[in-house]
Amino acid sequence: MAQPVAKAIEKAGVVGAGGGGFPTHVKASASVDVLLANGAECEPLLRSDSELMLSDAEKVVRGTELMREAVGATRAIVALKRKNAAAIDAVRRAIADGSAVEVLILDNVYPAGDEFLLVFEATGRVIPEGGIPLDVGVVVNNVTTLSQVADAVEGRPVTSRLVTVQGEVATPTTLRVPIGAPIGEVVELAGDATIEDPAVIVGGPMMGRLARDMSEPVTKTVAGLIVLKRDHRLVTTRAATPAHVLRVARAACCQCLACTELCPRWLLGHDLMPHRTVRAVQYDTLPEDHAHITSAFLCCECGMCELFACPLGIQPRAILASLKAELTRRGVANPHHRADLTPDGVREYRQIPSGRLVQRLGLTEYDRPAPLDDRAVVPATVTLAMLQHAGAPAVPAVAAGDRVLAGDVVGEIPEGKLGARVHASIDGTVRSVSGEGIVIDAG
Ligand code: SF4
Ligand code: SF4
Repeated sequence: MAQPVAKAIEKAGVVGAGGGGFPTHVKASASVDVLLANGAECEPLLRSDSELMLSDAEKVVRGTELMREAVGATRAIVALKRKNAAAIDAVRRAIADGSAVEVLILDNVYPAGDEFLLVFEATGRVIPEGGIPLDVGVVVNNVTTLSQVADAVEGRPVTSRLVTVQGEVATPTTLRVPIGAPIGEVVELAGDATIEDPAVIVGGPMMGRLARDMSEPVTKTVAGLIVLKRDHRLVTTRAATPAHVLRVARAACCQCLACTELCPRWLLGHDLMPHRTVRAVQYDTLPEDHAHITSAFLCCECGMCELFACPLGIQPRAILASLKAELTRRGVANPHHRADLTPDGVREYRQIPSGRLVQRLGLTEYDRPAPLDDRAVVPATVTLAMLQHAGAPAVPAVAAGDRVLAGDVVGEIPEGKLGARVHASIDGTVRSVSGEGIVIDAG
């Protein structure tokens, strides 16, 4: 079973829809004893996974069963937060009697959906530093990914996904958006922005990034668009330059430890202490063998340290992300691989309730339902990036002037590389093929 399912997934271009974009056919070829379906949707304001489970729980459960069989797992667990009671009911109803699929109810805390935390909550196993769930016999897939697995096995490639539009919009909504649609058009479909010159966070408020402009295309990993005023803290934090971030850290850090005490990876036993990293970058040099510099490899960039913990507006996450990028650029490998880890006894009392997080982020007024509007969204143009996934960019398989139908392959996995196929998301004509991606005009 594993090979046909993995092959169908590969042909359909399924990747981790929760943000990671890891090609799913590779995970489907693994052999583990537990499959975890991640429906935690722990980013505030996002509703795409819960709306999917509400509207199509059968498909999520079918995809979970298919993946469970593919990886040979004896257990399959769909994990959802307690607050999503209607989605929990829908998933429970979709599980047939005698099925190997179970439901796990998670507390309403952030970041419950982080793979390391989810695996620990579901199995009691701690993934080693720098490791992946496979190291402890687990595969984790997002629930949207699993619904795409069910589609893939029926021959339907990834051409669209659910996207929640929240924030300063007239009608918070979750829409089924063709991959490659410009984010500006998607925001318009949510009643448009209610403010002049808005900023858009692509993804969730904690881990998303600032959109370049409204023409930026939706990709396979975009679960939400958060429209905010330009002076909102989430926008100004992301807009800060690395030099500014460093200057503030050097001037203001009082070594209070709050960032480390709330760091979910530190609480799991990993050797990651953001306050020590902030102290280490007080000096001009960047010693590549300094443990609190290389610990950047252990950071999942959840944002807890900078958006919730630090009382002084210091950005340990941004510092750690810059260090990780710089070390990688210099060819330094992660030296942290401890596997004998003991979670801190206070961990369960240091988890942050989602409501408190929303309040601290200044998002309370936007924490509203965003019900699914399943109308057909047909953009005039789509731009299909060749790199919407982990691995190597897809190789264009079409040329300007070619006619394509939705579902046709327009980008192929390069020979022998890790990657994912890209498919046309609308019927139309290829306008251009460039480094930006493949542009298709509808018609
Ligand atoms: S972003 Fe901050 S809190 Fe999150 S894992 Fe990294 S250091 Fe820890
Ligand atoms: S929470 Fe802020 S002030 Fe306290 S140690 Fe961390 S970075 Fe420094």
